[in-house]
Amino acid sequence: MSDSVTPKKVKQPQFILMVEDVNKTFDGFKAISNLNFYMDKGELRTIIGPNGAGKSTFLDLITGRTRPDSGHILYGEEDHDLTKLREYAINRLGVARKFQTPSVYDDHTVFDNLLLSLPESRGVFSSIVFRLNSEASDRIDDILKTIRLADSQKTMAGNLSHGQKQWLEIGMLLAQRPKLLLVDEPAAGMSDEETERTGELLLSLEGKHSIIVIEHDMEFVRQIARKVTVLHQGSVLKEGTMDQVQSDPTVAEVYLGRNHTTTAA
Ligand code: ADP
Ligand code: MG
Repeated sequence: MSDSVTPKKVKQPQFILMVEDVNKTFDGFKAISNLNFYMDKGELRTIIGPNGAGKSTFLDLITGRTRPDSGHILYGEEDHDLTKLREYAINRLGVARKFQTPSVYDDHTVFDNLLLSLPESRGVFSSIVFRLNSEASDRIDDILKTIRLADSQKTMAGNLSHGQKQWLEIGMLLAQRPKLLLVDEPAAGMSDEETERTGELLLSLEGKHSIIVIEHDMEFVRQIARKVTVLHQGSVLKEGTMDQVQSDPTVAEVYLGRNHTTTAA
């Protein structure tokens, strides 16, 4: 039982997230195995690892979509144990997740998509009904600048490029003022230019939010890399700078393929 596990580390005030001894088995298969993970507030952390390493499952465990078999996931200043909370409650505590496929309201403008995402407009599905005060309007302007869609604010979201939709969705999450932002493979399907812009966007959020980015595209990882965590078979195999991770022979073996040495795939 998770209650009988004593945390190994005292949760430091600077931690936004402290994951200890987390296990998750699916039909006898250990997707997450004695996982320990510590992250500081304001960090931009990148998680890499081969297919099936447990990366998406890890996000599912943080957001409450999946329950672990054992272990603790302590979050925020009040040390909420996320393993004991439901998905909506975790979201209310400031944990926001961006899935791989963008989900925006195609028939609404970029501006209205952001407006509808403000917590103040919760439940109000019409921008006519919701009174736009100047504070909300300033906030939307800020987000439009951050995601670089100010020039497209009147465009129907359905007419945006794939990359622009992804940025809009990140903007919609930012509208919720998340403390912890989880982003699963944001560069998938993007052009090189869009990928680079996405990297710049994520870097601009560093310090203001705590961010976990899961990514496959190594060039992109290199662009945004601060501390990089390598997951393998549901555990942390290696953690460090991009150079430390890439020069590690065990990482090269499991992640980059047995025939590679230190060159990234
Ligand atoms: P990654 O995102 O690193 O590619 P995942 O977390 O998606 O890996 O998956 C880790 C392993 O757990 C995989 O072998 C996957 O098949 C398995 N798995 C993930 N979710 C489920 C589920 N809901 N039911 C059964 N097996 C699952
Ligand atoms: Mg995945």
